[in-house]
Amino acid sequence: MNAAIAVEHLSKSFGSFTAVDDVSFAASEGRITALLGPSGSGKSTVLRMLAGLERPTSGRVWIAGEERTYTSVQERQVGFVFQHYALFRHMTVRDNVAFGLSVRKASKAEQKERVDELLHLVQLEHFAHRFPEQLSGGQRQRVALARALAPRPKVLLLDEPFGALDARVRQDLRRWLDEIHRELGITSLLVTHDQEEALELAHQVVVMHEGRIEQIGTSEEIYNEPATPFVAGFVGAANVIKGLVIEGRVQFGQQLVSGAAHLPDGSAAHAFVRPHDVRIVVPARANGDARLSSPATVERMVNLGWTSKLVLSLVGDGQSVIAQLPNDQLEGVREGDRVLVDFGNAKVFAPHGPASSRSDELAAV
Ligand code: ADP
Ligand code: MG
Repeated sequence: MNAAIAVEHLSKSFGSFTAVDDVSFAASEGRITALLGPSGSGKSTVLRMLAGLERPTSGRVWIAGEERTYTSVQERQVGFVFQHYALFRHMTVRDNVAFGLSVRKASKAEQKERVDELLHLVQLEHFAHRFPEQLSGGQRQRVALARALAPRPKVLLLDEPFGALDARVRQDLRRWLDEIHRELGITSLLVTHDQEEALELAHQVVVMHEGRIEQIGTSEEIYNEPATPFVAGFVGAANVIKGLVIEGRVQFGQQLVSGAAHLPDGSAAHAFVRPHDVRIVVPARANGDARLSSPATVERMVNLGWTSKLVLSLVGDGQSVIAQLPNDQLEGVREGDRVLVDFGNAKVFAPHGPASSRSDELAAV
């Protein structure tokens, strides 16, 4: 296996509890891969097995083309930054960054040159003599990244590196990490529970849930072609609308949506549709398409600037649907109105099953 980071049938049990269950993926060379999932899904445990901090129950770990399943942390040559991997409080920024180099017995001159280079990279040249407690949270994480990069690791492992910081600082650091990564091109694995962070930073996203992989894909694939109900619900806001399968289509109210050829007649189906994919037609303006739409009542309408958010109630079964649309598509629509809604882009799943025959094929690979 030549990928810079790869795991193969990796599992980890703590007593009778399986935290990581048969996980396999390879991170794209020179890119950022995100390991995305809710808290407790096993992300950190995968990262810790890659770092050599946890021993797998079964499976294998590869770093820079070498199998590293049971080797020591030092031998793996990975750099890591953790949310709570504190800096050394009694050391200056400079000494913190130099730490990995002094452990490796690099010469003083070599250490100084490398530390200067990294302080420049993370834009903290003027903070070299400060102590960690004299820095902001964001600055501390930049020092932590410089320290991780100093010994020129082969790969970089980041575990919720911005998790403890407030939203505004997270945004700034995200942009900053993206720039640094473009400059260095080091293969990186970023653990996060924040789907926006994953979609924005990562070239490839591995979605985890309860110790297993739900889907591997690009940001676009994960967002637009979710392979499972879990991914559809976790990555981006989505309405879940319940209906019944009739000849390969799903009936929701009066509407038939295609995409259920993989489900048996008469079975229950769930459609996932994003608020901005719900189409709304005012009945007076509807043409022949009206037959493909479901009547609904506008229960609530909130203006959010250039878009509005609508809470719709489907006539018949009363299911609630959230729509969010540009205001210029909503002219003349008011609370209490009867409208027609269309879920043309809906993604259809069996209540707990896979999306389609295509994802069955993918799952079998
Ligand atoms: P994540 O990083 O996705 O939040 P973790 O990998 O930290 O998830 O944990 C996955 C599951 O494994 C959790 O239920 C957690 O409680 C459990 N777990 C993690 N480490 C240990 C451990 N050392 N002993 C027992 N259970 C653990
Ligand atoms: Mg974690």
